[in-house]
Amino acid sequence: MTDRRSELAANLAQVEERIAAACAAAGREREEVTLIVVTKTYPASDVRILSELGVRHVAENRDQDAAPKAAQCADLPLTWHFVGQLQTNKVRSVVGYADLVQSVDRLKLVTALSAAAVRAEREIGCLIQVALDAEEHGRGERGGVGAGGIEELAAAVAGAPGLRLDGLMTVAPLTGPYAGRQQAAFERLGELATVMRATHPAANMVSAGMSADLEQAVAAGATHVRVGTAVLGVRPGLG
Ligand SMILES: *Cc1c(COP(=O)(O)O)cnc(C)c1O
Repeated sequence: MTDRRSELAANLAQVEERIAAACAAAGREREEVTLIVVTKTYPASDVRILSELGVRHVAENRDQDAAPKAAQCADLPLTWHFVGQLQTNKVRSVVGYADLVQSVDRLKLVTALSAAAVRAEREIGCLIQVALDAEEHGRGERGGVGAGGIEELAAAVAGAPGLRLDGLMTVAPLTGPYAGRQQAAFERLGELATVMRATHPAANMVSAGMSADLEQAVAAGATHVRVGTAVLGVRPGLG
C-alpha cells in the first residue's frame, strides 16, 4: 500500500468505527446511516483510492474543482453529491456529474436545475438545505432557507421535471439559538423532515453531521453524514 492509501484506509476505518459506535449508542442499525466522503480540495487520485477502499458516495462543494475531478473518476462506481452554494450559471455543469444536489435553497435554483436535468436527460436528486440560524422566512449566510421556506421549495422540486425530492440537509449553525447545540439542531432538522414526509413520503434523506459532529447527527436520526477532514485530513486554507 502507498502511504496515502494506508492513511486513508486508517482514517476511514476510524470514521467507520465512530459511525458504528454512534449507531449502537442510538439503537440504530449501521445500515441506516450512509457515509458520504467530502473530497473537496483533494485530488482525483484520492477519490480513486477511496473508491477502491469501498467508499460509494462522495461530495464536492465547488463546480470548478468538482467537474474535472468527476470526469477523471467517471469509470468509478460512485454517487456524486453537490453540497456547496450553487450559482445558476454553474447548474448545467453540475448536472453533468452530480447525482444529487444537497444545497437547493431557492426557487430560481429549482427552475435552473430542472431545465438542465431535462436537457441532459438525467434525474437529479434534490435535498433542501435548511438554515437553522436564519429567520423562519429568511436565508442563511452560508446558504440554506429558513424553516418557513421548506414547503414551497419542496413542492417546487416535487413538481419539477427531471428532479426528485429526496429530503433535507443542514450544516450545524455557528450563530443563533442552535449555536454550539449540534444535536438539538439536528433533532430540529429531523422534525422538519418528518413534517415534509407527510406530504412527500419518499423524501426520506436527512443529511446532517460532519467530522466534528457525526455522533450527534446519528443520535438525532440522520440518514447521511458528510465527512471530509476526518477521512482526508485538514484542508489547506478555506474549503
Ligand atoms: C466541507 C463540508 C463538509 C465536511 O466537513 P468536515 O468538517 O471536513 O468533515 C460537510 N458538509 C458540507 C456542506 C461541507 O461543505
